[in-house]
Parts: sequence; C-alpha cells; structure tokens
Amino acid sequence: MSNLPNLSHGRHTLAIPGPSVMPERVLQAMHRPAPNIYTGELIDLTYSLIPDLKAVAKTSGHVAMYIGNGHAAWEASLANVLAEGDKVLVPGAAQFSIGWADTARRRGLVVEQLDFGRRAPIDPQAVEDALRADSGHQIKAVLVVQVDTASSAKSDLAAIRKAMDAAGHPALMIVDSIACLGCDDMQMDAWGVDIVITGSQKGLMVPPGMCFVFFNDKAAAVRQKMGRVSAYWDWHSRANPEGYYQISCGTAPTHHLYGLRTALDMIVHEEGLDNVLARHATLARALWAACDAWGQGGPLELNVTDPAARSHAVTALRIGAPHGTALRNWLIEQAGLTLGIGLGMATEDDPMSDGFFRIGHMGHVNLHMLMGTLGSIDAGLKALDIPHGDGALAAAAQVCAGK
Ligand SMILES: *Cc1c(COP(=O)(O)O)cnc(C)c1O
Repeated sequence: MSNLPNLSHGRHTLAIPGPSVMPERVLQAMHRPAPNIYTGELIDLTYSLIPDLKAVAKTSGHVAMYIGNGHAAWEASLANVLAEGDKVLVPGAAQFSIGWADTARRRGLVVEQLDFGRRAPIDPQAVEDALRADSGHQIKAVLVVQVDTASSAKSDLAAIRKAMDAAGHPALMIVDSIACLGCDDMQMDAWGVDIVITGSQKGLMVPPGMCFVFFNDKAAAVRQKMGRVSAYWDWHSRANPEGYYQISCGTAPTHHLYGLRTALDMIVHEEGLDNVLARHATLARALWAACDAWGQGGPLELNVTDPAARSHAVTALRIGAPHGTALRNWLIEQAGLTLGIGLGMATEDDPMSDGFFRIGHMGHVNLHMLMGTLGSIDAGLKALDIPHGDGALAAAAQVCAGK
C-alpha cells in the first residue's frame, strides 16, 4: 500500500444509520433568513405537513411535532400515557430497546424486558406469553422497536399486534420507528399500532432536531385520563392547537419545517411512498447479495440471518475483531466513505465491538450510491487482506438490474 496515493479526495459519503444523507433541495430550502412566526407562509406550510406525515405512517390518527431528537420522542411517547409506577413490557434487549427501557425506568415506570439476543427480531409468541401471564393487567404498554438500529433486526408488527390480541390484553402498542419510517413499511392503522414515534434525521432526510408522535383515538383517550402530563410533552395541544404557537409549544423549528416540507414533497408527492419503499427494499437486497458473496470466502456475515427480519434502512455486519474497525478506518482515510460503528455488540473477546460495522442505506440513497459503497468496501477488504468471496459487486448488480 506504500505507493498507493490517497484516494479519498472528492465528495465524502456518509453511510451511517442517521443522520442520513440529505438532499441538496432540503438543504437549499432551509437556507433562508428567519421567517415570521406569527403570520404568513410558515403557518400554512406547517399545517400542510400534517397530512403528509400521516401518509408516511399510513394513519388517519393524530400527529404531534416536537423540537427534539429520537430520545425526545421516547420521552413524549411515555409522558402522555404512562404515570409513575405503571408497568411496561419491552420485548427486546438490543441497544435501542435498552435505551427506551432506560428512559422508561428513569420516568419511574416499572420495566419488564424480554431478551431475544442481538441478532433476532421480537418473538411474538413470547409477547403473548408475557401478556397472558399478566392476568391482572398491570402492563399498560408494550414498547416495540420496529428496527433496532444496532442489530438491524426488523420485527413483525402485525404479528405482535395479533399476539397481543390473542392474549386479550388491553395494553397500548407503542412502536419506535425512528430508524426506518419511510424506508421499511409502516401501516399504523392496518396493523393496529396505537402510537408510532420517529425522528427527522433518518428516512425523512432532514437534519436531526425534530421528532413526531403519531397516536390513535385509543391512545388519545388514555391521555385524557392521565392525572397530569407535563406541559412540554403534552401532545394534546400540539395536535389540537388553538393557536399556531401550541404546535411547537413555543418558537417553531422554522428551518426544519422548510426542510421537512421539501422532503415530504419528494417522498409523498414526487417519488411516491410506494416507490420509496420499493427502492429501499431493492437496494437492501442488492446489499445482502453482495454480503452473501463476500461471506462465501471469509468472515463477513450479515448480523440477521432471516431475510424477512432484516431492515431495508440499515444493515449490521459481523466480520470479527479487529477487521470491522480496520475496514471502517481504511474507508474513511482512503475511500472518502464513513460507515457506522458496531453499537452495543461488545463481548468479552471484543470489548470495543471492533468486529462489527453497519451500513446506513436510508433515505436519499440511489443505486449509484449503494454500488459506490459496496465497491469501496470490496477495495477495503482487498487492501487489508481480509479474506472474502468473489463476485459481490456482480451479485449486487444482478439485483439492481432486476435479474
Ligand atoms: C436513531 C434512533 C433512536 C435515537 O434517536 P436520536 O435522535 O439519536 O435520539 C432511537 N431509536 C431508534 C430505533 C433509532 O434508530
């Protein structure tokens, strides 16, 4: 490698699972002086976002917008329907289930957690069993992470809803779709999800800083019976504002709103949600095909074995320590490509998760970008003498060619 020039100069690519690549148009829509927040364009623009956000979640329910990241959405989802001392079931123990469960505990909730390891989706039967065992209906809500961004395992929300119904349990179903809304399908109403949360910086292609809580009438009724809900988190006034300022409980996130308007134009009105989802599905299949080919001759392996349980937004890979970190570093320094770190995958043999990396393929990603990422990884495997099978790019190209 000594006589190899540095090949990283050129447009740097960020392929991490959020923040995702933002369209130039979204950035340009945000590049403007501060708008009036009392009358005028911004008011109409904000209200115009509501039906389009609901279209992405496939719900006719309500949506509340917050200035905050995904962690804020975690707080908001809990604050409106759960009081101190209430019990919640968290099926899952990968990084983001752990984070949400921790948020719940620190709000004074009692958490029962189910562990399916760090490679598998939620087992609906285990949810049903846990709810059946709760004959006194102490559990008030089930906190489901649709795609755990650390493991990239995607859970079957319709099956989990069925399991909850089979147990005859009244708990609310609350879903964290922060990693994947707009990438993996979400059918909030059809699947019977009571509350869905997401953030602006992943599938929605806007900078981090806004989050959204969708809720149905059942959840709204639970909120109405709450003894008290803190002013900032209360979704009622945000979703049913008497004045514009109530939508954001103070100064609106002005520039994010412009960016979001453009992003939703692109997703809902130009490309169309069906195509957006199909594009993500196809690019994900191409990525998996490449990984399978590499894995034929070396240690690289998809973290989630069952294709039906893999996200279309993010992919976690195992390659053995220290190869994951070495490959990521080589790609930054030599290819102008940043991949995601292994998150929450530490073991005794690999305390820094050096044997893992993740690829974000969410939002504003096309065939050319994915093939660039795969081609760069292929070069990195060769440069670092990490054993790998041949034909990864050809396998991905076959999928992208529709063969
Ligand atoms: C990114 C993410 C979060 C956290 O979002 P922040 O904006 O970093 O607070 C929570 N849950 C999931 C599934 C995520 O992908």
